[in-house]
Amino acid sequence: MTFRSDLEIVAAALDRQVSAARERRTPVLAQRPLVELIEDLRLDCLAREGGLTGDVLLRFTEAYLGSIINLHQPGYMGHQVAVPHPSASLGALIDGLTNNPMAIYEMGPGAAAIEWFVINWMLEKIGWTPAPIEAGKRAERICGGGVLTHGGSLANLTALIAARSALRPDAWHQGDQGDLAVIAPESNHYSIDRAVGILGIGTRNIYRVPCDARGAMRPETLPQILERIQADGRTPLALVANACSTSVGVYDPLRPIGEFCRECGIWFHVDGAHGASALLSTEYRHRLDGVELASSLTWDAHKMMRTPSVCAALLVRDHRTIDSAFSQQASYLFHDKEQLGFDFLHRSVECTKSAMGLRFFMVLAALGEQGLARYVEHQYRLAEQVHDYLKGIDDIEVAVAPESNILCLRLPGTDAHQLTLRDGILNRGDFYITSTEFQGRRWLRLVFMNPETTLDDVKRLVEQIRDTERVNPDSAVY
Ligand SMILES: *Cc1c(COP(=O)(O)O)cnc(C)c1O
Repeated sequence: MTFRSDLEIVAAALDRQVSAARERRTPVLAQRPLVELIEDLRLDCLAREGGLTGDVLLRFTEAYLGSIINLHQPGYMGHQVAVPHPSASLGALIDGLTNNPMAIYEMGPGAAAIEWFVINWMLEKIGWTPAPIEAGKRAERICGGGVLTHGGSLANLTALIAARSALRPDAWHQGDQGDLAVIAPESNHYSIDRAVGILGIGTRNIYRVPCDARGAMRPETLPQILERIQADGRTPLALVANACSTSVGVYDPLRPIGEFCRECGIWFHVDGAHGASALLSTEYRHRLDGVELASSLTWDAHKMMRTPSVCAALLVRDHRTIDSAFSQQASYLFHDKEQLGFDFLHRSVECTKSAMGLRFFMVLAALGEQGLARYVEHQYRLAEQVHDYLKGIDDIEVAVAPESNILCLRLPGTDAHQLTLRDGILNRGDFYITSTEFQGRRWLRLVFMNPETTLDDVKRLVEQIRDTERVNPDSAVY
């Protein structure tokens, strides 16, 4: 069998699968036990005998596609993972076969050029100065910079590393003095805690900013927090804000927070892993009003920009901060030569890096930036429509009026009851939803990632929740 005919086998199987999913003819998720899947996929036999081509490949592909969670099914309202645009999957295929780990220019000139272009495109959307295209050319004024990373968590870590190198240039060699603190909202993503832990700052040195009833940071509490940090003999390394929060999708007020950071000379990091894509929309970009005051921004393409995992970006207002984030020298890779392009290696935690920009760029090139903006707007608007619909239902409570494509709701009963309802939905397989804790209570969480999900899908989901309720009444209520 040739590569070409195997490709056709896989392409046809994928096409059947995606079409069936889009027409709601397959379940979103049919969970089966691990032992059963290992058997079904014939992993043992295939590993021993090889020969994954032709009919064997077809059987394996179909078995695999029978074991997936089906993001292309409009009943998918689960985690914040992109429903990939088909063009992006072609990017993943091209990258998978050509494998250009482009962190040094000569190991993937095209991919590096795309990364450079994508970073500049994002910088422009933020309102920061893009870097000059010509390699080696100095910018007239301070320009921005950035790097694509394997995920927003890594982008957040990179941001705090850059912040530390800016505040304490010696820390890389000397280690830090053990006096740093990070300011973050109660609602920050756990990757911030991890970054603080990894940096050796200690998670107990995260000073939490109280949030209002919507779960957004209360900027008026910041001066007091800073006083407390100083009274504790500590120095603030950075202040992190959400755009938007993971649990309920609410944006922190970036402008007053940014102004406070400017006044006090504190590195301002905006975690926009999910919600920075609203920058594309003239209708929703105001949610990030003040983002240009930030020192750095995390922005995932594999969340709201239809790009398969993973492709995230860390962007900085001043490129020098990312260029000197890792002062460690890998001399065998940084040699003096006439550079035709740009090596991203010194900007990233990773050494081998996939051509992430290609995946994202192929979405951008397929939809155009207007098309991508329309996608974001459509998803955000759907959450508003669902909110309006749920307002008319007496016993369903909504956590907050949605500010993004995330909506959390709750039925009467205990926290455990909400989880029972979710289990009931997952067992039926037509919908996939998650749950979250917010303001001390458990909520069912819907995230509208799929461009084909409609209000009618949500209405059917609510009916199924009702059915589940009838079968599993909450003893604490009835
Ligand atoms: C999803 C998310 C992250 C983590 O990003 P990954 O790409 O999953 O590593 C960080 N912060 C926020 C606010 C997020 O929503």
